[in-house]
Amino acid sequence: MKNNGFTKKVAVIGTGFVGMSFAYAALCFGACDEMVLIDINKEKANGEAMDLNHGLAFARTNMKITAGDYRDCTDADIIVLCAGVSQKPGEDRISLLQRNREVFQSIVAPVLYSGFDGVFLIATNPVDIMTRVVWQESGFDCKKVIGSGTTLDTARLRYLLGDYFTVDPKNVHAYVIGEHGDSEMVPWSQAMIGTKPIREILRENPETYKCDDLKEIAVNVRRAGYKIIQAKSATYYGIGLALVRIVKSIFSDENSVLTVSTMLRGEYGVNGVFAGVPCILGRNGVREILTLKLEEEEQKQFANSCGLLDSVWKDTFLS
Ligand code: NAD
Repeated sequence: MKNNGFTKKVAVIGTGFVGMSFAYAALCFGACDEMVLIDINKEKANGEAMDLNHGLAFARTNMKITAGDYRDCTDADIIVLCAGVSQKPGEDRISLLQRNREVFQSIVAPVLYSGFDGVFLIATNPVDIMTRVVWQESGFDCKKVIGSGTTLDTARLRYLLGDYFTVDPKNVHAYVIGEHGDSEMVPWSQAMIGTKPIREILRENPETYKCDDLKEIAVNVRRAGYKIIQAKSATYYGIGLALVRIVKSIFSDENSVLTVSTMLRGEYGVNGVFAGVPCILGRNGVREILTLKLEEEEQKQFANSCGLLDSVWKDTFLS
């Protein structure tokens, strides 16, 4: 932590739906001591800071909330990057790449100029590739450049499985891995209720639980973003809470396991690609990747998702 070591400071860049859902949840949860809001639209950032400050009297912790600029990143511990364009109904995440890359180019340089040396946490889509962009532009250790990855998809999966098996989602241990997007996958061989494999539960209760239902749940997780955007034009509460969960895990040095987007360096036979995988998260970012023992077909699917992310990267930036 760079500042006095006691103050937990977050800079939120991009005060749109996602940035402000994070900021509001961070205030409600007391996730940090200081929060600075930065946006190309300064008036919006100012208004948002005023609005949040007016809730301080009801919040359970005190927090210094201001609108600022990139110089304020100098002593931030974590930058939450939510700036950029979002999907329109029917649009996929990859199609945002070129536009959001330009947005990020205007952000990362002044952030580095401020002297920031904390953890970058990226939410902007396509999140795995945007995280790779920040890693490349910043030159930071890859452990300190994290994407929200499949954290939200994993939460959606746990919610739907909890509902299906009538079990508290907190006791559902299952992950979505790979791209936060159309090629993401669920390694069912690693899915448990408590410590009991879900497949074993299916085998023991063939009348109640069906393999096809699980497939449908995976599809619903993958399509959730599209459905919400169709219905209300944007998704933000879920990701706002997911970002708070990640930030808390970093600040408290929790060493929690979350499926953030991180750079794979040989894990699962993949090199140089950022993708969502279960990681142990501590004070300095990703402490280590928790490598799952995937079955052959799962490994193929995961490699396919990473291959897609890599080829989009190469086609866009190297050709
Ligand atoms: P939004 O349009 O509401 O907000 C974007 C904000 O970025 C705006 O306030 C805008 O002024 C600001 N901005 C644009 N260019 C900027 C620049 N150059 N410098 C500083 N600020 C700039 O969009 P949103 O709904 O908040 O979505 C933000 C991003 O988050 C999108 O890319 C969206 O796809 C993504 N998203 C990710 C997840 C996830 O799971 N990772 C979930 C939902 C949305």
